[in-house]
Amino acid sequence: MPDDKFEPRIADQRIGYFSEKVTDLSTYDSNNARDLINRWRLVKKDPDAELSEPEQPLVYWVENSTPEEIRPFVVKGIEAWNKAFEKAGFKNAIVAKIQPDDAEWDAGDVRYNVVRWASTPSPRYSGYGPSVANPRTGEIIAADIVQEFNAIKRGYTYRKLWGYTEENDPLEQWIVSLTMHEVGHTLGLRHNFKSSWVYDAKEVHDVSITGDNHIGSVMDYDPINLAPEGTPQGNFFPTGPGFYDIWAIEFGYTQASLMRNEKTFFQNQLSQNIYLELMEMQCHHRE
Ligand SMILES: [Zn+2]
Repeated sequence: MPDDKFEPRIADQRIGYFSEKVTDLSTYDSNNARDLINRWRLVKKDPDAELSEPEQPLVYWVENSTPEEIRPFVVKGIEAWNKAFEKAGFKNAIVAKIQPDDAEWDAGDVRYNVVRWASTPSPRYSGYGPSVANPRTGEIIAADIVQEFNAIKRGYTYRKLWGYTEENDPLEQWIVSLTMHEVGHTLGLRHNFKSSWVYDAKEVHDVSITGDNHIGSVMDYDPINLAPEGTPQGNFFPTGPGFYDIWAIEFGYTQASLMRNEKTFFQNQLSQNIYLELMEMQCHHRE
């Protein structure tokens, strides 16, 4: 239940977080409801350090049913979020572990966050990333991810259709990207279908420009990015957080002590500054 170690964060309409509506029934204030974002309790080990490991990292387990070839891709998808957490002041915020074959706990155990697999007859999605949050504070207390076997099969089809090398593999990138998306949901993030266009039609295939993410957010439903004939193939799918994702994690997870005074004001200030930075970057890329 609520305690003074977890600081709730008021939602901002510009940033898509799942949230809890909390209503104060005893206040004289006519605006008596607040939307508190869903976020994990992530506390810096060294509160004064610009970059610190957390007291307790977020641990995500890779279910032991995961095919051997796929496991490293799932691990990458989980740990790729660290790049965004670094912007929020955390080093090694999120850690992936493989569930041992002789584990005595079940992947359905609520105390473990597990990336699991299902093989549904007619899957509607490639994965799901639900979480459970404290309705009074927004603190996420448990999460599990279910991804579909069908998605793995799809990855192998991409390999057959579009070819692959060790450096540029559509199967790997698709599983990393899917895992990032579902883990993103369990970090509190909602979809972002609006920031896909960061680069123009030429730049989007040039890895020296895009790096590991050629769109604004992994919280999108982005199709495979195929280079036209005569153009070298760039990223098939993003394998790192986009500008928006980094911004969103910065908003949601920057240590609350930075915001202790004038909390709401500072939050608005923070998000506005990052928003302007983001717009500047996008304008630059469209020049
Ligand atoms: Zn989604």
